[in-house]
Amino acid sequence: MLVEGAIVDLEGIRPGYVRFAAGVVVEVGQIGTASRNPGERRVRGIVVPPPANGHTHLGDAAATVEPPATTVAEMVRPPDGFKFRLLRDTPPRRKVAEMRRALDRMRREGIAATIDFREEGIPGVELLRRAAARGPVQVTILGRPLRRPLDDTEIDELLQASDGIGLSAARDEDPADLDRIAAACRAAGKRFALHASEAEREPPETYLRGRPDLLVHLTCASTADLEQVRDAHTTVAVCARSNALFGRRPPLAELARLGVPTMLGTDNAMLHAPSIWRELEFDYVSSRLAGAPVAAEFLARAAFVEPWKWLGRPAFATIAPGTEARPIVVRLPPADPAYQLVTRATEHLIVRPGTRESRGEPS
Ligand SMILES: [Zn+2]
Repeated sequence: MLVEGAIVDLEGIRPGYVRFAAGVVVEVGQIGTASRNPGERRVRGIVVPPPANGHTHLGDAAATVEPPATTVAEMVRPPDGFKFRLLRDTPPRRKVAEMRRALDRMRREGIAATIDFREEGIPGVELLRRAAARGPVQVTILGRPLRRPLDDTEIDELLQASDGIGLSAARDEDPADLDRIAAACRAAGKRFALHASEAEREPPETYLRGRPDLLVHLTCASTADLEQVRDAHTTVAVCARSNALFGRRPPLAELARLGVPTMLGTDNAMLHAPSIWRELEFDYVSSRLAGAPVAAEFLARAAFVEPWKWLGRPAFATIAPGTEARPIVVRLPPADPAYQLVTRATEHLIVRPGTRESRGEPS
């Protein structure tokens, strides 16, 4: 297959063509210079790494009715918030089935990876591992230790089962516990992440002290706080639709201006479908609505490039022959690719080179 139009990847945005053979990039070049191969399928569109979801809680995908309109604390506070009652009341088998369904939706939307905060300790991690086992979506599972005071055995076993730890917030932990958890993650070579400054501002010293790999939200962070986050070389995941339910928004324009590595997340599966396409459009539109517009190029990078860097797989976001990239093609006009991807793309426009789906057949 030959795609002519635009390329969006780690190197930036440019016009060009990409030739695929069996789903793999075999040739990249300038528009108008591709050789003609008789019988080869030709598509006009944008070639881009598959998007990745920077923050999910797939465990609460079992919710089927409108959640109560309440504060974020009453919604997601352990142990009695709406979310934790939902988790408690859902049998494990159903949780696995619903997480698998959410992952399958991501697959259909071309989303190739997700970074998930999984509650419920070691059993919670194991349920998501089971749900993700046979699917093509790469799931990075950040588990949560349950026992307080901390139990070293639990943390060791959790870190063996998971890809790291994702905490509810620094202010929910004793600072000494936070340090121990962060040190255990580092010693195990795993990730350490936490929510920060979501419903109210927290001092950066409290959430940066463990040198986290990832901070989620920062809706209430000041510019000075964001500068500290940038200087700590920490990646941020923002969840604009989730924040909007509680009357807040992530500081997208500030993150862009300061050059903070940013990913997009869809947050709780009980609140939102894990669709990065919906997130992208909402990020763009809501930033305009708030009078703080953010560039489409920044959002495109947050969806298609930064997650692969964070996951340690930058080659996945590099569209060139001989890389491990498995790009998708979005059939949109290529003149202004980031704008088109951010405001217009849906899964219906995706062509996947080398798969039956690329010919419009169900997989
Ligand atoms: Zn979250």
